[in-house]
Amino acid sequence: MHFYLPTKIYSERDCVKNRAEEWTALGKNALIVTGKSSARNGSLDDVTQALEERDIAYSVYSDIEENPSIETVMKVRAFGLERQADFVIGIGGGSPMDAAKAAALMIAQKERGEDYLYQKGSDEALPVVEVPTTCGTGSEATPNAVLTIHGKRTKSSLPHRIFPRFALVDGKYLQKAPRTLLVNTAVDTLGHFIESYVNTNATEYSRMLCTYGMGVWSSCKNILIGASAGENDYDRLMCASTIAGMSIAHTGTALPHALSYYLTYEKGIPHGKAVGFFLSGYLAQAQPLERRKVLELIGFPDMQYFHSFIQRLIGTMEAEDELIERAVRGTMAKPEKLKNVPYNVTEDVLYRICSTAAGAAPPK
Ligand code: NAP
Ligand code: FE
Repeated sequence: MHFYLPTKIYSERDCVKNRAEEWTALGKNALIVTGKSSARNGSLDDVTQALEERDIAYSVYSDIEENPSIETVMKVRAFGLERQADFVIGIGGGSPMDAAKAAALMIAQKERGEDYLYQKGSDEALPVVEVPTTCGTGSEATPNAVLTIHGKRTKSSLPHRIFPRFALVDGKYLQKAPRTLLVNTAVDTLGHFIESYVNTNATEYSRMLCTYGMGVWSSCKNILIGASAGENDYDRLMCASTIAGMSIAHTGTALPHALSYYLTYEKGIPHGKAVGFFLSGYLAQAQPLERRKVLELIGFPDMQYFHSFIQRLIGTMEAEDELIERAVRGTMAKPEKLKNVPYNVTEDVLYRICSTAAGAAPPK
């Protein structure tokens, strides 16, 4: 069993400002990596104000798309090199945060071409600070970055491990986020918990995180179906997301993530929603004891109730047979995901998970 999380995590109101003395000491010239809306919730202003007050130079790259591509990361690298950045700050959801990690790697590895993103080798990267503005990926506390590979018409995690130096987690950046964004990203968090709990790499440590974190998630679930949210609720949603990130940092994700990438690529379905479709089917195949434990921790009496709740949040998957076949074949060809699954994965198992995603009742 091991536990390794070399990220200093601050999870508190105004931590960008209040902890600025520490995180701004990482360099003299920051590259800020963000998207357009991701920056419009006070987070970018907080970061730039902290840098200006300390006379630290910065440049902003604010054109990260959802599910960022290799091409985008290479543009960010060129921009960062031209500006001579010596540390990188990702602000936003998983897309800008992952792009920040990948760009930090490629700036430090400036002699290498884009192929290096998917080659094993040195993980040396510029120091990274992450400021999350969605409550889903937990990327601020994971070493992972997921990029779109247009050449393969899918997405994939880099083999490199790039832990941020600082995660600055503040629920206030969620307060004006649209409900669908909260729902989709909170479902991603749930996916991280379920895929981490039902996982061959699960340990007492990772389950400790899941056990506590699922309780936090469960306490927020009424907000997802329409109850009004107070300030503390945004903090709790954010907190659950970071804990889930800490947990997958130790176990990895499994089948729902692997299957989701094809749906997101071909149909533009947001990450959390695409993962969510496959959760009931994945959980239904787990050992009865584990399945009952997970349901209890997230506050559902049985599989059917859980399945209906997820359907109420995100609906059911609509995908052509051809796309499902590609997702099944592609997932079967990913040993790094299959090895995380604590039951025997066959094409039949994957098709069953897909039919539950498309609305079939999960096995009891
Ligand atoms: P996202 O793609 O980062 O953002 C989704 C949308 O939300 C964007 O349109 C963004 O707008 C907007 N947005 C972000 N923050 C907002 C706020 N506070 N208020 C209003 N709008 C806001 O979504 P995500 O689900 O967080 O990240 C998904 C990505 O993370 C995927 O690429 C996925 O594969 C990856 N991921 C990574 C890990 C990991 O461990 N590293 C784990 C799971 C998933 P703009 O585009 O205009 O900025
Ligand atoms: Fe995810």
